[in-house]
Amino acid sequence: MSRRWLLLALLLPAATAQAQPAVSHYDIIIRGGTIQDGTGRPGFHGDVAITGDRIAKVGNLGNAAADTIIDAHGQFVSPGFISVHSHAKRNAVARAENMLRQGVTTEIIDADGGFANSGGEDIVAQLADYAQHGLALNLGAYVPFNTIWQKVVGEDERRPTAAEIATMQELIRRNLAAGAWGISAGLDYKPAYFATREEVTKIVAPAAPWRTLFTNHDRVTPPAFSSIAGMGETIAIGNAAGIVPILTHIKLWPNEMGQSGRAIAAIRASTARGQYAAADIYPYIQANTFLGALIIPSWAQAGGREALLKRLADPALRAKIAAETTTAIVARAGGPDGIFLPTHAKQLTGYMAEIGATDATETVLRLVEREDPFGIFRFGSEEDLAAFLQYPDTAISCDCGSTTETKVHPRNYGAFPRAFGRYVRERHALSWEDAVRKATALPAAMLGMVDRGTLAPGMFADVTIFDPATIIDKATFVDPAQYAVGISYVLVNGRLVIRNGALTGATPGKRLFRAADMAIYRVGDGATRSLSVPSFTVRLTTAEGAPPTEYRGTIDLHQRTADRLATGTLTLSSPGRTFTLGGSGPLMAASGWTAFTGWMRDAQGSATPVTLTLDTANPTITGKGRRLTIRLGERSAVAKLR
Ligand SMILES: [Zn+2]
Repeated sequence: MSRRWLLLALLLPAATAQAQPAVSHYDIIIRGGTIQDGTGRPGFHGDVAITGDRIAKVGNLGNAAADTIIDAHGQFVSPGFISVHSHAKRNAVARAENMLRQGVTTEIIDADGGFANSGGEDIVAQLADYAQHGLALNLGAYVPFNTIWQKVVGEDERRPTAAEIATMQELIRRNLAAGAWGISAGLDYKPAYFATREEVTKIVAPAAPWRTLFTNHDRVTPPAFSSIAGMGETIAIGNAAGIVPILTHIKLWPNEMGQSGRAIAAIRASTARGQYAAADIYPYIQANTFLGALIIPSWAQAGGREALLKRLADPALRAKIAAETTTAIVARAGGPDGIFLPTHAKQLTGYMAEIGATDATETVLRLVEREDPFGIFRFGSEEDLAAFLQYPDTAISCDCGSTTETKVHPRNYGAFPRAFGRYVRERHALSWEDAVRKATALPAAMLGMVDRGTLAPGMFADVTIFDPATIIDKATFVDPAQYAVGISYVLVNGRLVIRNGALTGATPGKRLFRAADMAIYRVGDGATRSLSVPSFTVRLTTAEGAPPTEYRGTIDLHQRTADRLATGTLTLSSPGRTFTLGGSGPLMAASGWTAFTGWMRDAQGSATPVTLTLDTANPTITGKGRRLTIRLGERSAVAKLR
């Protein structure tokens, strides 16, 4: 460049310099990987820059500099995986090694209605308790229906009073207002099993204004033991209550093997009626729960464990329990051959041979009496599993969680890598980009989470880097506590928690709470979206310790299907400072609601993440009208709309 041209370049208006800063410096740059950004579009070669706890830029970063450079050549760079069905243990979340080494960066706890939950019914207290020693990953919670039912109604099979129903409704309202990511239930588990469909609907109905979800472990009842009927019930409750039904860890028990088409048709039909329904699935055909929980008849479990033990001590009742348990073992596991005992690392039949037992049901009852152990039930076929996995609105889940236990279902150590290694690389059930979407942007959308799940500017920097040629689970039923392989780096909120395949010990995880201006939205539905507000004013605090300043703003953002990310303009200006759009994430949309995540830049080149939601129909807010919420960095404000 000649001297004259250089001089001219220096004299160019600031606006040009602002749009194309000469030198960029980031905290972290992930270089040269194949970016699977979570939107479902094909992977592309590029870099990812991180500033603080957010994604700053995705694409070709040229010679930009960073404090830390991660070489991702030959690897996939994906958003961190979001586990929507978590049974994380409170003593394990500060390390979370079994989850981080699966690439999981966020867990939503209290799945199955709070199954085996010791945390109580207040999610704020529960999450505070979990976070006591720090969090290695992000943690959110559902309102646990079963925990609430058990607390209010107890262990007996009886009808709740009107006052008790009101109490349960209030507990649900309170937890949603406090930031729960929906309501979870496990209607297959006693005592919530005793709640009638009408009672459940009535109790969860106050959730409708939160535009949230009902994720339920389907109730499967004798004599038919029909999973499809159970799924129908979950959908019916969600539809009647006005919240999104999620068929969690979707599965068919042996008696309905091969009928995944019928189950999928029911989900599709609900969505087609305008009542969106979705599912999640773990990549195994073996389920895990307390050995007796789902095979001992419900009447025998009424009143809790002590009552069950008492009934088992009565010879006449024991014979009746045994007869019904035998039927259930066939329905749920195809017979005694389908049961594995993780604490003994043996098949039930192998254990029987060892102790010289001949009656499988009697052996099960004795184990329940003595140890109340876990049992792993082989249920279905991989054909059904693949069909469920391929349904566009089925997320990949694990039904596991942070744990230090070693005698558990192998999914606790291998579920997500198994989904990728076995069902994408080996069996081609899904494309890589779709599998990544199902572990990231789809679960985020199912939850109504607007700032995670996609590798795009403004999103939190939860990132998983893995080798598509090697990612696989190593955990087996006999030896489950084996870490998965193929995952080299994991970042949570912009900090490395796995470096070169090893745990760093950092605890950058956050407690995640859902805000009332978030809604469940859909991804990959082919819709074009836009967010346009010609003019608004908002009082924003943009510097530490400074008083709020009035900013004038304008928004004109669009997203065509093929783009997957928004384009357009967004400006915020006060007499002293102007922010313009520095990078766009996706536009997210539901009925009467649109959200956007991106970066704002000012003339000095400083960058601030921004999240917008435009709500025109938020039922939790009294008074009608459109409401634009702006989160700029850590601060949020509601804009006045004309
Ligand atoms: Zn479950």
